[in-house]
Amino acid sequence: MRTTPPRLSPLLLLVVLAAACATVPGTGRRQLKLMSLDQEMTLGREAYSEAMSSSPVIQSGADYEMVQRIGERVARAARKLYPNPARSFDWEINLIDEPRTVNAWALPGGKSAVYSGLLTITGDEDSLAVVVGHEVAHAIAHHGAERMSQQMGLSGGMIVAGLILQEKETDPDKAATIMAALGVGSTLGVMLPFSRLHESEADELGLYIAAAAGYDPRASIGLWERMASAGGDGPPEFLSTHPSEETRIQRLRKAMPKAMRYYNKAQREMGISP
Ligand SMILES: [Zn+2]
Repeated sequence: MRTTPPRLSPLLLLVVLAAACATVPGTGRRQLKLMSLDQEMTLGREAYSEAMSSSPVIQSGADYEMVQRIGERVARAARKLYPNPARSFDWEINLIDEPRTVNAWALPGGKSAVYSGLLTITGDEDSLAVVVGHEVAHAIAHHGAERMSQQMGLSGGMIVAGLILQEKETDPDKAATIMAALGVGSTLGVMLPFSRLHESEADELGLYIAAAAGYDPRASIGLWERMASAGGDGPPEFLSTHPSEETRIQRLRKAMPKAMRYYNKAQREMGISP
């Protein structure tokens, strides 16, 4: 049986030709990225407003204030450590009132969300900051865009590229597909987990970001242990493809000396002696 190779539409061809291989900030890994930062940010904005319009958002109280504080400090640290792309980001964070959901995510462009159910596992502010750092690191490393680019390659570009290039419209199916491709689909019931490579990269960069924001990176060890034993249906972003707990802790320990240097520097800048 003969199969015809998938055809590229003229528009997609333009995108492919205009695209280049990119480099992940912080790790130097080469990645396939068939879209511009502007396109990533447009997708992020669209998916974010869709997610927020259908979620109960907490707008006051101690937890709200903690999440906003973490968001600000993490954004400041990310802009410092990884100015490209973090300085172009349109940072925003919200706390969603879903006590049974143990999850958090960030979209391309730096808009992120934390579910109230996560706070029962994180416990303290340092641990929550490590999670936010991890999520934001996915955005900084363009993991959503990389995955969408890989899908474009795999599917001949028909579905995903169509979504990107289409006129803006509010179509829940479209939003769900974009969210799933970006790795944050838990709100809409669709989820494509990030690869292990992406997870390890987000762990490492996220640790540096949280530390540079003045949060104790050592909190990450106990945090990921608690997260792994949270079990049940499992928080989708955290258990699906994450490296085994042992490998993960090993990698975190390896990254710890550099993270501690960022942490100590941040402490000094905040006038706290380590
Ligand atoms: Zn992740």
